[in-house]
Amino acid sequence: MAAFDHGQRNHVIVLQEGYSHEEDGDETAMRANCTCTLVRCRDGTNIIVDTMTAWDGEHLRSLLDNQGLGIEDIQVVVCSHGHSDHIGCNYLFQKARMHLVGACASHRDLYLDLFPSEKQDAELTLDSNAEVVVRRTPGHTHSCVSVIVHNSQLGGRVGITGDLFERREDIDDESIWIDAGSESVKLQRQERCKIAHLCDFIVPGHGPMFAVIETMRSQLKQDADLSA
Ligand SMILES: [Zn+2]
Repeated sequence: MAAFDHGQRNHVIVLQEGYSHEEDGDETAMRANCTCTLVRCRDGTNIIVDTMTAWDGEHLRSLLDNQGLGIEDIQVVVCSHGHSDHIGCNYLFQKARMHLVGACASHRDLYLDLFPSEKQDAELTLDSNAEVVVRRTPGHTHSCVSVIVHNSQLGGRVGITGDLFERREDIDDESIWIDAGSESVKLQRQERCKIAHLCDFIVPGHGPMFAVIETMRSQLKQDADLSA
């Protein structure tokens, strides 16, 4: 198989777009699965972000196969937070050097303190070019993280944010992300604003990737200011 041509960029590939909606005929139940994303760093590091439910193993294997990758080619697993539809297939990636679930890093039974809790803006670098980093983005849960990809093939910065953003529409309709659960609405508003100003594209927790435009940034700033 031909080697992947990175073209001096880090590639963000959405393997599976997530979704979340009320179950037909039962307003007390939800159907949800996360957006699952592959980052192919230009130094050769392959990162998977959010691994769907435990029932998606074979599906995830075939999605990676379509990219010319096997399970053993993933070096880092990042889960934006610890909910079951974001961590379900972590067990597949036993060759990875690190699993990061929220801000908690581990390898086998060894746990590493990479995100001292007092440093809110600390970044954990995942590649040798320091272009792909993890940041804390609390709100949906207190230990949520996002992956920020600089120098992407899309020509800008991409934020893979988990449920900090549920989907694009939640910028106009806050009830979408608030009803999806938020351990701190105030912190989440601040982080949403921060990430939208930092990034040109966002991969949300349960929908397709979208481009960030100026009106979104001003809306998010207004939301954050109102709740400050
Ligand atoms: Zn979720």
